[in-house]
Amino acid sequence: MKIPILDLKPQYTSLKMEINEAINRVLESGAFIMGPDVKLFEQEVATYLGIKHAIGVNSGTDALVIGLRALGIGPGDEVITTPFSFFATAESISNVGAKPIFVDIDPLTFNLDPTQIEANITPKTAAIMPVHLYGHPAAMTQISDIAQRHNLKIIEDCAQAFGAKYYGDPAEQPSGNNAIHGKAVGTIGHVGAFSFFPSKNLGAYGDGGLIVTDDDSVAEKVRMLRVHGALKKYHNEILGYNSRLDTLQAAILRVKLPYIDQWNQARQKVAQSYNEAFAELPDIVTPQITKGHVFHQYTIRVLNGKRDRLKQVLANQEIGSMIYYPVPQDKLPVYQGQYGSCEVSEQCAQEVLSLPIWPEVKFNTTRRVIQAIQNF
Ligand SMILES: *Cc1c(COP(=O)(O)O)cnc(C)c1O
Repeated sequence: MKIPILDLKPQYTSLKMEINEAINRVLESGAFIMGPDVKLFEQEVATYLGIKHAIGVNSGTDALVIGLRALGIGPGDEVITTPFSFFATAESISNVGAKPIFVDIDPLTFNLDPTQIEANITPKTAAIMPVHLYGHPAAMTQISDIAQRHNLKIIEDCAQAFGAKYYGDPAEQPSGNNAIHGKAVGTIGHVGAFSFFPSKNLGAYGDGGLIVTDDDSVAEKVRMLRVHGALKKYHNEILGYNSRLDTLQAAILRVKLPYIDQWNQARQKVAQSYNEAFAELPDIVTPQITKGHVFHQYTIRVLNGKRDRLKQVLANQEIGSMIYYPVPQDKLPVYQGQYGSCEVSEQCAQEVLSLPIWPEVKFNTTRRVIQAIQNF
């Protein structure tokens, strides 16, 4: 039996009645654009995350673009971010006319290395965009401290981390910043951006995204930008976008939201069983399991040049695996020659391998993955 890297079917099967009912309700109502489900989802998700404003948009990419614009970031500005992410991260910065500045990652977390941020701050730096990659919260205590000292905005790319909570670095002193301890990612910076792309932890059945903020004026700007720069119809004040969250997707997300903690906990259990099984294997570095990590991906590092061979061996046994990401953002053709080296992220791009994980994955399935890797 083939093992995919992700199987969305069991989740749909378990919620089929509720989801079909929600879809039918929208179809019957005819309220397809900004229908009641959008507003209700926004309220429910704001309560879940513990934030004042949650505003649905068309995608996670749009959430980043509109979030940046709502913070006033544009031409002439620099935004510090990680090279080791999906291209939407840097693309959003470039698309608003600002310049991404890539700061290398910590190989243990795959996230921005906070100790290297300050050396990259210039008079043009306007913001830091951390990514909570694979569902692992970035080092928000250090990033918040730096942003405060240098008067920078923080926009969190939470596309892979819906429901993740920040409990601080394990190495951190207990006297650290307690105010952000236990907060949901996305609610720590000035703006949080989420994606509901079907494969994400909270996935719709099409595109969708969300912007969250506690700032009233940023929220108002976001609401304007998502409908052509107008708060009042036919009273367009700025250049905006057509980027509403689809009502059908909002209705589906309302069904799924109450289950997200249970699903994320199930993901962490899968990660735990993988970590235990791989603990003694010499060429494998297992991911850190921290409280609040939601394991959008379970990603190991395979050392000594063996990654591609392992991937092939798994493929031969019909076991899916993926490389997220084979090329760091700063080395993509679009930025050809514009940036120097972020060595850790380049090394990780050669070593990372993401293995099958989803909340409902069966023990027999992960056991086959584990045995295949142990045999290798
Ligand atoms: C998926 C993803 C995005 C973009 O989300 P879309 O909804 O696909 O536009 C942005 N950043 C990261 C890190 C992602 O994984």
